[in-house]
Amino acid sequence: MRVLYVCTELFPLLKTGGLADVSAALPAALAMAGCEVRVLLPAFPSISAGVELQGQAIALPATGGPDVARTAHPVPRIVPGRVRATGQAVYLLDAPAQYERPGGPYLDASGHDWPDNAARFALLSWVAAWLGCGGDPHWQPDVVHAHDWHAGLAPVYMQLLAGGGARPASIFTIHNLAYQGVFPRDMLETLGLPESLFTIDGYEYHGHLSFMKAGLQFSDALTTVSPRYAREITTPEQGCGLDGVLRHRSGQLSGILNGVDYSVWNPASDPLLETPYEFNQMAGKAGAKRALQRLLGLALRPEALLFGAVSRLSDQKGFHLVPSVLDDLVAGGGQLVVLGSGDAGIEAALRDAAARHPGQSVLRVGYDEALAHGIMAAADVLLVPSRFEPCGLTQMYALRYGALPLVHGVGGLADTVTDSTPQALKDGTASGFVFHEFSAHGLRQAMDRAFTLHRHPADWARVQRHAMQLRFDWKVAAQAYRTLYEQTAAATPGTAYASSLNGSR
Ligand code: ADP
Repeated sequence: MRVLYVCTELFPLLKTGGLADVSAALPAALAMAGCEVRVLLPAFPSISAGVELQGQAIALPATGGPDVARTAHPVPRIVPGRVRATGQAVYLLDAPAQYERPGGPYLDASGHDWPDNAARFALLSWVAAWLGCGGDPHWQPDVVHAHDWHAGLAPVYMQLLAGGGARPASIFTIHNLAYQGVFPRDMLETLGLPESLFTIDGYEYHGHLSFMKAGLQFSDALTTVSPRYAREITTPEQGCGLDGVLRHRSGQLSGILNGVDYSVWNPASDPLLETPYEFNQMAGKAGAKRALQRLLGLALRPEALLFGAVSRLSDQKGFHLVPSVLDDLVAGGGQLVVLGSGDAGIEAALRDAAARHPGQSVLRVGYDEALAHGIMAAADVLLVPSRFEPCGLTQMYALRYGALPLVHGVGGLADTVTDSTPQALKDGTASGFVFHEFSAHGLRQAMDRAFTLHRHPADWARVQRHAMQLRFDWKVAAQAYRTLYEQTAAATPGTAYASSLNGSR
């Protein structure tokens, strides 16, 4: 089973969120499950820096696809290679005019979308389709697995290129339905997309072109990153305007829970911790708390219930609820550390709130991998109050580090954290705190329950031990993807995989 995996981020070379962690871990787990995976990525400078180029560059076709594939200077090309640190096989989409820029992969240095994002990511999708349809004569995938809106046009281009003939199966994974890649209709021509598909059953979305909708409509199978989110996005509340499409395609939609890369997130072997620890040897966790309190200028209070958070600070993540519970958190004897960046208003509100409680509350604005590990290790409770959450990784990391997650009961958060109800405490399944009313009041009530449990150290330790022994293994997810690849490729006539099945019958 050969899989072309199409995405825009790869940990540790380029990361803005969970997509990078997934793109590093899942292809490796798929390889262990017997798939041959190549990852197609734009050659952003930090990605190129970590890749050893190997073999001949592959040219793009002379016709079809977005204009930028032919008119950009220099002309884009595909370069095979391997990630130096891991040996993962990749194709880099070498298009310096599109990808070699200061700033982020999606936004410029001042935080605005790059004005040519439609062309930049149509190009990625087009190249995926080209490789899917035989662009590399030495390697023909059975499946093209595209991730998020940036790769949403890949299945459309693949159908256009194949023209009803043989092509790989297409799988599209939604990591976050809220980011959709919506552009003006008048871009169709320069992107090489026919007007005939600009319909309600195609990529038309309220008079605009939607990359996300294209992915949803034209892929053979759809997945998202937790079973609960797969159900939620078929409802008007969580469907971000695409719930109708997703209900229509619900027969092709499934949820496969992300895993954790325990070679990166393991308190017993974490090189970023001075004092490693394990569920049966917890002294190192107290050491990590002391180290973090010292580092950030918090009062050195070992008994304080330390709440931590590591998050993008976007409206999705629910941190606007936190300032109004902070007074109670501190009055109850707690401390709070937030590491994150994003929305300026949310940052300011958190900063003002933290300033009211010097020595007990700190906001660190920025992106800091080492501090993220330090917070997981030091915290007693990890806050994830997201309004919605496709999967969420930090609560799963927190479980492994014995920081009990306090989460809003949605999406992957609901799928991975078991509330410390009296019954769950009794039967030993409790692993954190879940609130259902998305408000400061709901958050405060869950926080109060965390304080109450903390006053019973034996009960707390029991929940913590259980949390640390839970596993969300990529092996399980990879097996589920492999099964889906096989089923979808077998049902896509003309794939090499389907022919090989027919031949062997
Ligand atoms: P999302 O992809 O929506 O941002 P996830 O929970 O799936 O949320 O993944 C977030 C990833 O980004 C985690 O690996 C988390 O540790 C990391 N992360 C988020 N913010 C920061 C930050 N400020 N510093 C370091 N790591 C961060």
